[in-house]
Amino acid sequence: MTEPTAVQPTLNDIVALCKRRGFIFPSSEIYGGFAASWDYGPLGVEMKNCVKSLWWQDTVTSRDDVVGMDGAVTTHPRVWEASGHVEGFHDPLVDCKTCGHRFRADKLDEECCPLKPSKTPRECGGELTPPRDFSLMFKLHWGPVEDSANITYLRPETCQTIFPNFKNVLTATRMRVPFGIAQIGKSFRNEITTKAFIFRQREFEQMELEYFVHPSESDKWFAFWLERRRQWYLSLGVRESHLRLRQHGKDELAHYAKDCYDVEYKFPMGWSELEGIANRTDYDLRRHSEFSKKDLSYRDDLTGEKYFPWVIESSAGVDRTILVLLSDAYDIDQAPNDKGEMEERLVLRFSPKVAPVTVAVFPLFKKPGLSELARQIEHSLRGPYRTAYDETGNIGKRYRRQDEIGTPLCITVDYDSLEDHAVTIRNRDTMRQIRVSVDQIHQAVADQLKEMEKPRG
Ligand code: ATP
Repeated sequence: MTEPTAVQPTLNDIVALCKRRGFIFPSSEIYGGFAASWDYGPLGVEMKNCVKSLWWQDTVTSRDDVVGMDGAVTTHPRVWEASGHVEGFHDPLVDCKTCGHRFRADKLDEECCPLKPSKTPRECGGELTPPRDFSLMFKLHWGPVEDSANITYLRPETCQTIFPNFKNVLTATRMRVPFGIAQIGKSFRNEITTKAFIFRQREFEQMELEYFVHPSESDKWFAFWLERRRQWYLSLGVRESHLRLRQHGKDELAHYAKDCYDVEYKFPMGWSELEGIANRTDYDLRRHSEFSKKDLSYRDDLTGEKYFPWVIESSAGVDRTILVLLSDAYDIDQAPNDKGEMEERLVLRFSPKVAPVTVAVFPLFKKPGLSELARQIEHSLRGPYRTAYDETGNIGKRYRRQDEIGTPLCITVDYDSLEDHAVTIRNRDTMRQIRVSVDQIHQAVADQLKEMEKPRG
């Protein structure tokens, strides 16, 4: 095996692999596609489920100070007035008078002119209108009457169903500040710029935590969640050198926020936001109290103090996390083919925690005896692991197929297995093969996977 080449894939490399191997497909492709919409295929949905369950475990079930909820996608429209979205959730939009296309005024350098694709809308010579505000919220009529009184919105973020439930959760659970409420769910934004694959979609999934604290402790908890969230990405195997925290400047900071950092990743198109972590002060609970006329303040039953808790928010994207995992894992190295000649190998170096298949099992040949034993082993590994069974094509090709989807371990059953009751376990990264007796497989698999979960630096 030669050293990995630390390949930096392009977005097109990732899009092509995702479609070919069933991670992610363009939505409605047989109808020509649907802008900024993507469907997760068999491997993509496994990864998505892993990401969400690892986040839930880290944020909710491993802690006694965080509970979860699952709010409705559509809410009373007053929620969005109170949150400030109706008034202020806009992006600056410009129209090109020459080609009729619309662009986000603050992202002009990332766009291509549709008539002269090698040029940005600033360079192509088309005349742009002055920027105007464009609301990112999707409006809809709620109920059978299409009346302006029935207008509401698809939520552009999940957290605004958490704040109106603050008192409900407190009463139902008897949680005490500091504590958090977490939620995973779909959000919708009518984005103007929709390139960059699943990085910017109009429908996407968020994992959000609103952590309520005493105002005097907000800096401490802000620092705590900043580091905890950074560590979470490292625990998924993301390389530390591709991750950074960027503090918002005064000009970027929302008017109500005391502090905000973006967790940024070095995506194929450059450093960009993966998650936002903000100290939102008491803005949300105060605003919802004001607009609903319901008191959402907190009374400390030990000290008797009554106050609006401040909120530390961690707001991460499921889809952007998937794009990070794919980009970070993508690698090309050299591996021997069936004739022993070295050839290029595409390999996804996923942590076993997020690999869509953890262990693949093959009979060396599709022959009675071998297939049965291979099937038996595969079935015994189901449950603790995500398994696959493959008996088609030569063994080299089967290894290559699993490398390409990032399967950490492959187990091969051969003719000797029927005699010595042992199999070969092959490691994706080292390509080393070890012989293990069938009754030791579970232990050997667990040991190798543990080793492969170690941070990549
Ligand atoms: P950007 O500046 O890239 O538009 P944002 O600052 O508007 O992002 P937030 O409102 O902080 O994003 O949303 C929190 C997280 O939700 C983001 O860090 C990202 O992971 C995810 N997210 C936001 N918008 C989208 C989108 N259009 N498509 C996919 N994920 C998104």
